[in-house]
Amino acid sequence: MEINKTQLEQVNRQLARMMESDNFYGKRLKEAGVTQLSSPEDFTRLPFSEKQDLRDAYPLGLMACPEEEIVRIHSSSGTTGTPVIIPYTAKDVDDWGEMFKRCYEFAGITSRDRIQITPGYGLWTAGIGFQNGCEKLGAMAVPMGPGNTEKQIKMMIDLQSTVLCATSSYALLLAEEIEKRGIRDQIALKKGVIGSERWSAKMRERISSVLGIELYDIYGLTEIYGPGIGINCEHDTGMHYWDDYLYLEIVDPETGENVPDGEWGEIVITTLVKEGAPLIRFRTHDLSRIIPGECPCGSRFPRIDAISGRSDDMMKIKGVNVFPKQIEETLAVFPELSSEYQIRISYHDGKAVMRIYVETDGSNDFKELQRRVSDAFRSRIGFTAMIYVVELGFLPRSEKKTNRIIDERFTAE
Ligand code: ZN
Repeated sequence: MEINKTQLEQVNRQLARMMESDNFYGKRLKEAGVTQLSSPEDFTRLPFSEKQDLRDAYPLGLMACPEEEIVRIHSSSGTTGTPVIIPYTAKDVDDWGEMFKRCYEFAGITSRDRIQITPGYGLWTAGIGFQNGCEKLGAMAVPMGPGNTEKQIKMMIDLQSTVLCATSSYALLLAEEIEKRGIRDQIALKKGVIGSERWSAKMRERISSVLGIELYDIYGLTEIYGPGIGINCEHDTGMHYWDDYLYLEIVDPETGENVPDGEWGEIVITTLVKEGAPLIRFRTHDLSRIIPGECPCGSRFPRIDAISGRSDDMMKIKGVNVFPKQIEETLAVFPELSSEYQIRISYHDGKAVMRIYVETDGSNDFKELQRRVSDAFRSRIGFTAMIYVVELGFLPRSEKKTNRIIDERFTAE
């Protein structure tokens, strides 16, 4: 999707801001000799930025305004290595809230709703983002934060929360708990706003059917404000994103070239009005595509497809490239399997072996099921995986993100 005139002017202002502050990208622009854009074609001459650049700028090297204008920082979870710190001005916090409010509105949530917020509060952008948008909307926030399922369910019943905000893992955990206790008729949930990790269609269906609620996928990343930069509408035709705040490109992850609208690739984001830490052509490593055409809802905001994975999630097994999404799609044709699975990759006799654990209830013949799943893998992905069928509830459920892929090839001696 080509950059429009307004967006181009906004990018020029972002470039000027970064050069003036002489932050990492300002320096890079000067080196590259691209300081202002005069046409849409110029845009792709701008260098990319990567998560590593942001790490190198730790702690406050991303700041592109005088420090007295910064009102808050957030940090990405940083499970590996140096974390990333993103400084926000008051306007950044406000813009983010406006985007998030728009997300709730696209999901049909109003000031009469009671929104139970279960993502974490603190350094990361999750809980506080959901809260900021909720308050701007004028709805009632129930700021639970993560965990303590007992208390979550009590508040859900006592306060008659109508909206649940959660990761998909935690939404599943809560749904299964509510089902187990047989208390669905005591809760008033109508909608779920689910973010922060890729989830399978199967998991979505399970949460939606157990709780009897509509689900909305919210998109975002700490480096670009946080959650709230896009969401699906009631027509569920992909996620609308806010092109008055952001410019999105889809590029081939290998070559970095733009791909035509409709084709899959990596999402690259440029902020248009950010003050504290503007980012130009930031490589998200999230895989999606632009959905061409107009949504039946009539909104003018463009759409991307649900995130299908991360470019760095690709597993190379016996020379075959495998994405988690392919595994989920293979499992999806077996209604007798749950949404949960676990992959373990290790070396066995010098060869990479993939073991896949899948769950089913006790009513199936495990051996026979194992053989059918194994056949499906061979014909669909092209190699033999070792399938282990285990009983429902055996695999770990998580309150945050569920780690379904364990690659032991580089850790085991
Ligand atoms: Zn729509």
